Amino acid sequence: MSIISSYNHTFEENSHYLRQIIQIMANHRISADPINYSVWYEYVTGKNKLLNQAIDNWRDKNQPFDQAFALELYKKFICSSSIEAFEKINNEFISLMNNTAQTVEASSLKASAATISFQEKSKLLENINSRDDLKQLLAEIVIETNGLTVTSQDLQSKLDKAKEEIEELRIELVQVKESASCDALTGLLNRGFFDTTLEHLVNKNKHTKMCLTLLDLDHFKKVNDTYGHLVGDKVLKFTAKLIKQHTEDAHFAARFGGEEMAIIMPDTHIQKALTVAENIRSTLEKSRLKRKDNSESIGVITVSIGIASLRPDDTVESLITRADEALYKAKGNGRNQVVLES
Ligand code: GH3
Ligand code: MG
Ligand code: MG
Repeated sequence: MSIISSYNHTFEENSHYLRQIIQIMANHRISADPINYSVWYEYVTGKNKLLNQAIDNWRDKNQPFDQAFALELYKKFICSSSIEAFEKINNEFISLMNNTAQTVEASSLKASAATISFQEKSKLLENINSRDDLKQLLAEIVIETNGLTVTSQDLQSKLDKAKEEIEELRIELVQVKESASCDALTGLLNRGFFDTTLEHLVNKNKHTKMCLTLLDLDHFKKVNDTYGHLVGDKVLKFTAKLIKQHTEDAHFAARFGGEEMAIIMPDTHIQKALTVAENIRSTLEKSRLKRKDNSESIGVITVSIGIASLRPDDTVESLITRADEALYKAKGNGRNQVVLES
């Protein structure tokens, strides 16, 4: 998963966006630098819903669109805040490497000084002719050898410490990577990761059976309206957990947006996808969710599901459209059901 945004609009679409952006920038007297352009590019494409919300709020408030605001939007909604975390870890890596290199260099200087001294002493040994001189020379060699042992122990412990720190940074990096690919509420993969993965699989794996399953909670607005948004969130989390339980490791379960979820199922026959979806649907229907605070029942929660299977001439859009049409049929036929593409 890359933290760099990827765009795949056509030349014509981009020309159209360019005209829109120039108009907006001119109207608001916004300087056309790359950060500002990225922000307004994302805005006019309309795909970055959270960014659009933030800009619409800004428009309502009638505040100036300054550099600080543009950068905030850029980091928060385009590059994701993970870029800061990556920078932090990267800087820590660099300073750790510098410190380790200094330690190694200091130790190796001491070692090469000792080497020279040992060479000199070996010459002296060849010409030695009294027992006392030999004793004296051996004592010097012992002292120097001890000094070297201390240096090498010191080096070892510093290297061990560096190893520990590197391991900690590696774990931090994995966590940052996960937060860049996960949806914070449900723990499913986020939309960005879903898009990248689906694009990749549709283009690379056309020869294999692959299914796309779209799930949408039924009458979810009513759940929010009746029990509040927080309870709605809990229902979303619960559904996500169910999805994780019923999907396989090779599947990619993602939050598609709002109360819609999606599962990419590589190498999966549509009948198998149907079984997985049916299991999710029936388990959710049978789950008796209760509010934690007063144990009041939330009633029966159901989900409608549409499934499409990849065709050789599919694009990401055509595949999603067919899954969405199947989902729409499931809704139209009375909800709480799984429908396969026709
Ligand atoms: P349908 O059966 O046709 O899908 O009806 P619905 O009410 O589920 O569909 P609708 O699209 O009208 O409403 C979706 C609702 O999902 C509205 C929105 O407030 C809610 N929703 C979207 N994201 C979240 C979220 O993160 N948390 C909560 N609690 N609600 C959300
Ligand atoms: Mg919906
Ligand atoms: Mg819904």
